[in-house]
Order: sequence, then structure tokens, then C-alpha cells
Amino acid sequence: MDAFAHAPRPIIPIAGGTDLLLDLKQGRHSPVQTLLDVTSIEEMTRLEITGDELFIGASVPVSRVATTPEVAHHAQALTEACNLIAGPQVRNVATLGGNVAHALPAADGTIALLALNTQAEIASALSGAGGRVAERIETERRRSAVTRKIPFKELFLGPGKSSLKHGEELLVGFYLPLTNYHQASCFKRIMRPQGVALPILNCAVWLERENDIIKDIRIAVGPGGGTPFRATQAEDTLRGKSLNDITFESALEALLTQAQFRTSARRASADYRQHIVVGLFKDVLESAWERAS
Ligand SMILES: Cc1cc2nc3c(=O)[nH]c(=O)nc-3n(C[C@H](O)[C@H](O)[C@H](O)COP(=O)(O)OP(=O)(O)OC[C@H]3O[C@@H](n4cnc5c(N)ncnc54)[C@H](O)[C@@H]3O)c2cc1C
Repeated sequence: MDAFAHAPRPIIPIAGGTDLLLDLKQGRHSPVQTLLDVTSIEEMTRLEITGDELFIGASVPVSRVATTPEVAHHAQALTEACNLIAGPQVRNVATLGGNVAHALPAADGTIALLALNTQAEIASALSGAGGRVAERIETERRRSAVTRKIPFKELFLGPGKSSLKHGEELLVGFYLPLTNYHQASCFKRIMRPQGVALPILNCAVWLERENDIIKDIRIAVGPGGGTPFRATQAEDTLRGKSLNDITFESALEALLTQAQFRTSARRASADYRQHIVVGLFKDVLESAWERAS
């Protein structure tokens, strides 16, 4: 964090560069003085179980997330999402942190993490708050490693806009609760046949079953709004109920009411998204339901 605090500004982190370098080259990003490579920061490359959580460092490439057995066991939706991101070459350098920090509402890793009740860890490199120089240096030294955890959803302010403070904050990684008995998740997406970047629509569901009842559920759909979207109203209609045609119809109605599907020039119209979400949501929900049995 020292380098982050003191290098020439404007400064931004770079991980795999698969989003950022394109944005810089194509003039979609404001000029930058320093690129801070975060791929070798040891803490950010860890992928391990710590206590009752799975920690995935922000600099872990999505290919490693996709092929790690612990992720498949505890976060199957994330394994499925990471396996679908781009092709093998991009997956080997693209990181989970970059996928999230870019703050796109339909990024595949992001939508899976949203359904998995993830906490994001953030490190801040705050500068001293005035006073004598020595005090400021000491304050900076102590603060240079300050980290905090926030609910995943709080990372997002709008399309392409994260809540991370520019030049001050880094995503360190993600904490996911471990899967228990009768809990399961699923991720699927609908993609243009020739498409290589973001999907037309994706969906992730995590649920816990108690016999034939949905004890708890989280549903994420991308893009279902300006930020990664949780279908909380659909979750409310399903919690405490069994999954059948009637409860599915109520959940679907709630999802369609709450989601704000939009038309994107290169991918799909809002109408088309409203149409195809029916089958995608049903498919993902039923898979998670079966897996949790
Ligand atoms: C051909 C191609 C296909 C693609 N297909 C898909 C796809 O199918 N699905 C999908 O979701 N995405 C896809 N993408 C998008 C991209 O690969 C992913 O979003 C990738 O995960 C971004 O990670 P990165 O490490 O390359 O990020 P970078 O490009 O290095 O960074 C992206 C943004 O995140 C910031 N950042 C990176 N790391 C951190 C950190 N630790 N803390 C704070 N900010 C950070 C950077 O400053 C930058 O603003 C595709 C891209 C390409 C080029």
C-alpha cells in the first residue's frame, strides 16, 4: 500500500489488464500516470479455506478459480461462472478482482459472487490528516495496511462505477461462507453465439433446502439494473415455500417487476431480456434445488 500511497498520480491498479488495457488503448479511460501491478501481492494471490470461510484473493486468475476443487465444492456457481469467462488465454490472466472492480452489472464472476453472500475485503492507503510531518508519517505508516470488509453489494455505484476510492483503495479479496448440508448454487448464462465478452443475460442462485421447503435463497441476475442485481422480491416469495409451478410463477412475476432490463446496443433489447429470463431463471433455480436435495 506504500507504493499506492506515494507513486505519482493519477494511479490505478492493474491486474490481468484484459479490461483496463483495452479501455486505455481505446480512449475510454482518463489518462493515467502510474499503473500499479497487483498480481504479485502475496495476500491477494491466496485461495484457501480460513476458518469457516473460503478466501479468494482479488489477484487470483479466473482459470485458477475455475479449476480449484474447494471452490467447486463450496461455491459451484462461481466455478461455473469462471469456466465461462472468455477463452483459456484470457482466463489465465484475467483476475476475479478485475472482473469485480470493473463494476459491470453482468460480469459473470460478479453475478456468482453476489448470490454467494460474499464479503469483499478492501485495503486503504489513506494519507495523513494534517498535523506535524512526523505525526503524518506515523499516521500514514499505521494506516497503510488498514483493511475492512464490506457486503459485496456495497462495492457498486453504477455501470462501470465501483465504490472503491480512486488512488486510495484496493480490493484485497473475497470471503465466501462454506457450503453446508442441503445448500447448493448454480450459475448459467445466455450468450450470443459469436460473442466473446459479456453475456446477454446471466443468473446465479444459491439456496438451502429443508426437505421440500426453500429455507433460504439468494438470486442474482445480470444485467438487471445499473449495478449487479439481487432479485430480493423473488427471494421473499420463495423463502419458506416449496418449489412448484405456482411458486415459480410468483417468483418470476416479482423478479420481472423488480428488475430493470435495458437495451444494450451490441447484445440485446430489454424486451428480449424480459423474454429469455423466464427460461434461464427456471433452469438455474431448478438446478440449485436439485443439487441441494
Ligand atoms: C476477449 C475477452 C473476453 C471476455 N469475456 C468475458 C466474459 O465472458 N465474462 C466476463 O465477465 N468478462 C469477460 N471479459 C472481461 C474481463 O476479462 C474480465 O472482467 C476480467 O476478469 C478482468 O480482470 P483483469 O484482471 O484483466 O482486470 P484489469 O483489466 O487489470 O482491471 C479491470 C479494472 O479493475 C481494476 N482493478 C483490478 N484489480 C483491482 C484490485 N485488486 N483492486 C481494485 N481495482 C482493481 C483496474 O484498475 C481496472 O479498473 C472478457 C474480456 C476479453 C478481453
